[in-house]
Order: sequence, then structure tokens, then C-alpha cells
Amino acid sequence: MWKIPLCDLHFGPEEAQAAADVVASGWLTMGERTQAFERALGEAFGTTGVLAMTNCTAALHLAYLAVGVGPGDEVICPSLTFVATANAALTTGADVVLADIVGPDDLTIDPADVERKITKRTKAITVVHYAGYPCDMDAILAIAERHGIAVIEDAAHAPLATWKGRALGTIGDVGCYSFFSNKNLSTGEGGAVAARTEELRQRCKLLRSHGMTTLTLERHKGHAFSYDVVLAGQNYRIDEIRSAIGLVQLGRLAEGNRMRRAVVTRYRERLGALDRVHVPFRDFEVRGVGESAYHIMPVLLPEGAPREAVMAAMKARGIQTSVHYLPIHAFSFHGTSERVRRDNLDRTDVLAPRELTLPLYPRMTDAQVDEVCAALDASLREVFPG
Ligand SMILES: *Cc1c(COP(=O)(O)O)cnc(C)c1O
Repeated sequence: MWKIPLCDLHFGPEEAQAAADVVASGWLTMGERTQAFERALGEAFGTTGVLAMTNCTAALHLAYLAVGVGPGDEVICPSLTFVATANAALTTGADVVLADIVGPDDLTIDPADVERKITKRTKAITVVHYAGYPCDMDAILAIAERHGIAVIEDAAHAPLATWKGRALGTIGDVGCYSFFSNKNLSTGEGGAVAARTEELRQRCKLLRSHGMTTLTLERHKGHAFSYDVVLAGQNYRIDEIRSAIGLVQLGRLAEGNRMRRAVVTRYRERLGALDRVHVPFRDFEVRGVGESAYHIMPVLLPEGAPREAVMAAMKARGIQTSVHYLPIHAFSFHGTSERVRRDNLDRTDVLAPRELTLPLYPRMTDAQVDEVCAALDASLREVFPG
């Protein structure tokens, strides 16, 4: 349907084989593939705290519960993120305080605004490594330490990305990953947490599976015949089919991220010729603070350009585009709820309406990048001669 889609799976026949092997084995959940997937993720991220989950929204909910977020508390997160970052906090009964972004070159959460919005009720800060680029974790950790509050990392865009040598998702108290079908590592639906301490990992593990103290695999192996329930948990487990696919996908992740980087480099070269289009994170590598996972390719259209018309003009040329994101405070619920604080979001209000996401996936060719850039130039001339 699309000549150039927004994203594309980085799959081979091995994923199908891995899934088929699980089905043939007859053991579909809570088994050794999930344990192997968690071990392999831990090795890749440099931590022993990884637990695989049903999706990242569940991972975020568990992360909030694990650090003790609940009714009466406040969680600060950016407004420019997928709504799950905030909804998972609201689900615990906590209120959400939305923070602004740094600016047109860095669409991640602004630490200075976070600090301004801290109150006696603030329990956690959730950062989002937007598009795979790390937030200023030094500033965030310093603020969190000063005020004695937890840090959650929404690393849905950022598996294997780093901040000063450390994997994103392993720097705060709990990091959350998504393996949704359009993410860098894909299992269809899927996710994981990385817990900084063994205590947090144990809490997440209990919360993931009903608060039960022993699990099916251990009982099956005769290691345990009974169990206790020590808290009111959820069922946020992943299954063996997804874990098996995830293991294969993890083996492709580093290469996929490198391929994404090459695509982004080409984009920056080509988009440099379009003086009306601004490219956020363009000088990220020059700052030398870490590595991106290059999850998406955001650009900022000229102020006042009709974004929907640009998207339609791109569509007419066979090119799929998207928006990351409609800010959370623009939604009917979050824009009116008394449980969401949404003051002083000026940069988000100015920049979010200008954001357009261009196609990006590992196997995208230079010719395809060039075609997208030419189409963007032509589409802009067409709908916004300016
Ligand atoms: C995709 C995404 C999520 C939700 O992940 P699911 O696995 O689909 O639940 C949360 N936060 C961000 C920033 C995301 O991009």
C-alpha cells in the first residue's frame, strides 16, 4: 500500500522458526525461553535486573507500583510522550504533573522545568528517551537525589542506547522497554523492566505474577508444591512464543540500530538542504554524551505550516508519515482532568504542532531517504509556499 512505510520489521526466517519451535515443544508460557530472554537482555544492557513483561504499559505500571507510587502522590513526566507514560501513573491512583521539553534541538524532558514542578507530593520523575536519544540523566539524577524521589525511565524508544556508557533504562530506579511491533526490538506485543536493585527486581517479579511466591516452572520441576501470595499483583507476564522471537530479535538489535544510524545520517545530510525544515538532535553525536537507538526520525516543519496537509501531500506520493506526539495535555481526558497538572508547557505548545515523523527502519535505502526528502520539499512547496 505504501511506497515507503513509516517503519518495517527487521525480521528473517529465524523468528518464524523460533516461534514454531515453541509451539512444537508444547510449553507456551513461564518457561526457559523467557528466562533465557531475560538473561540475554540483562547481558546486553549490563544489568541482572531484567524481567520480561506483556508490554511496556504494564512495565510502567509495575515500575510505579514498585517504587511505591499511589494515591496522593504526584508523578512528573513529559507531555510530549506516548500517553501510556502518564496513564500507567494515573492507574496507580497518583496524579500526573506534565513537564516541558528542552527545545527545538532536544525534544526530551527539561530538567529545569522538572525541578520547578516538584512539590511535597512528588514521588517519581519519569523521563522518556525520545526517539532513542538520552535525556540529561546527570541533571535528572541530581534533582531526584536532592528531593529524595524515584526515577523511572521510559526507554521504549531506546534499547541499547546509552548515556555516558550506561544503557538507558538501567540508570534510574526502574527502566521500561517496549517490544511492540513498531519498536526497534519487536515481539508483536512485549516489554521488560530493568530494576536497579535486587529488592526492586523482587518486587517487580511478585507484582508481575499475582504476588505469588513460586511460579509454574518451579512447581512443574518439583522444586515447589505450594505458594503464598504476599501482595495484590497483576498478570503482566510475557509468553514463551514472544520470548523466543525476542531472543532472535535481540541478536539483530545492535546491527539494526547501526543501520538506523546510517539512515539518520543520510537524512541529516539531505534535510540540511531544506532550509525551512528543522532537524532536532542533529548535533547529538557531537555532544559526546551517549548513543542513540534512532527509533524515529522527527523533523520540525516551519512555523504555521499545515501539518495535516503536508501529511496528505506525502501520502499522495506514497510516503507514510506520523506524529510523535499529540501532547498529553491536548487529549480530552488529560486536558480537563483534575488529576493532571498542565501549566507552563510553552515549548511543547509551540514545537509539538510542528513535529512530523518521517519513515525510518533498518533496511531503508539511501534512495528511499532521498525520495522522502524530495517528497517533503515538494509537499511543503505545494501546501505552504510561504
Ligand atoms: C510504545 C511506547 C509505550 C507503550 O509500549 P507498549 O509496549 O505498546 O505498551 C510507552 N511509552 C513510549 C514512549 C512508547 O513509545
